[in-house]
Amino acid sequence: MAELILEDIHKQFGSVVAARDVNLNLPKGQFVCFLGPSGCGKTTLLRLIAGLVNPTRGRILLDTKEITHTPAHKRNFGMVFQSLALFPHLTVGENVAYSLKVRHVDKATRRKRAAKLLDLVQLTGFMDRHISQLSGGQQQRVAIARALAIDPQLFLLDEPLSALDAKLRENMQLELRELQQRLGVTTILVTHDQREAMTMSDLVVVMGPDNRVHQVDSPLEIYRNPADTFVADFIGSSNLLKGLCSGPHEITIGEKSLVLEELPEILSSGTQVTVSVRPEDIHIVPGVEEGDNRLHGSVSFIRDVGSSVEIYIDCNGIQIISQSTPKGRPAVRQGDMATVLLPPAACVVLKS
Ligand code: ATP
Repeated sequence: MAELILEDIHKQFGSVVAARDVNLNLPKGQFVCFLGPSGCGKTTLLRLIAGLVNPTRGRILLDTKEITHTPAHKRNFGMVFQSLALFPHLTVGENVAYSLKVRHVDKATRRKRAAKLLDLVQLTGFMDRHISQLSGGQQQRVAIARALAIDPQLFLLDEPLSALDAKLRENMQLELRELQQRLGVTTILVTHDQREAMTMSDLVVVMGPDNRVHQVDSPLEIYRNPADTFVADFIGSSNLLKGLCSGPHEITIGEKSLVLEELPEILSSGTQVTVSVRPEDIHIVPGVEEGDNRLHGSVSFIRDVGSSVEIYIDCNGIQIISQSTPKGRPAVRQGDMATVLLPPAACVVLKS
């Protein structure tokens, strides 16, 4: 059952298009990340869902009820922003229970609820501390508890972890994911950090520099089957090889042919395509080995980063990067001739 639906949402600020023709169907209880480069419209989309800005056109529905023009304070959504905006003059407990006070909930109930939420975010006993007495990570947890105080229908987070150092950030990512799973609250997180999106989400919404949604899928699906060249390049790293369809199972790259299991039906002979192959799927063998799905070139650079080895091969102007574990390291050295093997199952064909 779909919970949140965005129908043909378009947002323009003067002549600037911030979000272009967005259609989304986000199921209940999922952890969703809006991922994309700076300026692609992630925050705008989140603010439209929150009711902080109105769309230029389009509709937003929650559980089949239209909320496009419902004011933010009537949407019952919890929000955490990058600038946590905690109230410095209030205690931790008062911050957490603030929205309940606004809703005229009595003091004893507020304190009980705040204590329960502080347990949930692992701040038991912090109720009467002042905000200035907390570390960055603890303040983050207070902001999360405060957003959850109203039992929100949607939990919206705009890069809330970006100010934290790398280690704390990873811990908070795990905690947040665990908390969301325990509560089952539908959550949307805006991030430009693909690792964050890939490790936390059920669904990733990838937005591009054209302010459109390019793909909505599970992290694994997005990695294995990118919808287009932008997604293939933006998520992880990929070898993007330009070629031409030359048969129902064949693509020509330069003068070499690539035989694949099956090409998408929409591609007819002569169509220009891009083949995406992940570096870890590429095999390198020393010397020149003839055959289909093989390119030849010289090893231009080897980068050993301990846990993995990257080998750069120049195949007549086509740059190929392969990645292997130290144990599976191909027996080649810089300057050697080598054969690059592109396994059919690892080749994803994209329209150029
Ligand atoms: P970042 O990762 O840098 O925060 P983003 O993907 O969240 O970027 P948005 O903040 O949604 O991007 O902005 C999308 C586009 O809309 C940008 O070009 C931005 O300059 C523009 N924009 C956003 N808000 C406004 C506004 N209030 N007035 C004018 N232009 C705006």
